[in-house]
Amino acid sequence: MAKSRNPKNHPKEKKQHHHSQKQDTKPHSWAAVRSLLTCKASICSCPECGEIFMKAENLELHQAVRHAVSELGPDDTSKNIVEIIFQSSWLKKQAPVCKIDRILKVQNTPKTISKFEEYRDAIKAKATKLPKKHPRCLADGNELLRFHCTTLMCSLGLNGSSNLCNSVPSCAVCSVIKSGFKVTSGVSSKGILTTATSGKAHDSCRVAVDDDHGKRAMLVCRVIAGRVKKNPEGNLEDYDSVAGAVGVYSNLDELYVFNPKAILPCFVVIYGGF
Ligand SMILES: [Zn+2]
Ligand SMILES: [Zn+2]
Repeated sequence: MAKSRNPKNHPKEKKQHHHSQKQDTKPHSWAAVRSLLTCKASICSCPECGEIFMKAENLELHQAVRHAVSELGPDDTSKNIVEIIFQSSWLKKQAPVCKIDRILKVQNTPKTISKFEEYRDAIKAKATKLPKKHPRCLADGNELLRFHCTTLMCSLGLNGSSNLCNSVPSCAVCSVIKSGFKVTSGVSSKGILTTATSGKAHDSCRVAVDDDHGKRAMLVCRVIAGRVKKNPEGNLEDYDSVAGAVGVYSNLDELYVFNPKAILPCFVVIYGGF
């Protein structure tokens, strides 16, 4: 049954002022101009290689995959620093020190960095609400420099190449750089392991026999540890990370985090001869 027109709704809107008619035309022309402007703005070129993209998100993806790493040259101070922290914490006195092939800087996207910073802010905010104050958590979320060792299937960063390989997810290092760490769910899952020393990271890297082509990738990461749970007692929910086995050189040699946003890989040391 069709509804009859309600006479109560009789058009008051018929009354149109002169100036309101004028306003009517304005938004149309503005919309046209604006759409032209945004259309132009959405054509963006890669600052690295000049390739042109119609959408900002396509450029973002291109940068994340094609300009994911850059090799640090001999004059780069961060190269020396990474080399020193890697070698000084190798700690295998009986075995010869492994050979560093190259050191790469991870070109994290602004999106990845802001996720990391958001996570830090969340940890800091959480810390202000706790009755017991943890100065480090309040200051910077208890950020630590940590190692995580993984495998590689490609020649990442060799001879100036900056792109990730196509074997994601089988190439572990490229997968981590592209889409971050994965927290496996399940009873046996302990989270993502990071270590205080490169030696421990190397030893704890589980490698299938034919996966290891004599080269490994050591990720040097910034980690928001937050409140660290150091003993078995206590509720896990009150903490942000869990300490593993106590090492000889560090009481926090093993640390597990549970949120992939808590780790930002910054450098990759490609090494062999271990
Ligand atoms: Zn490019
Ligand atoms: Zn790869």
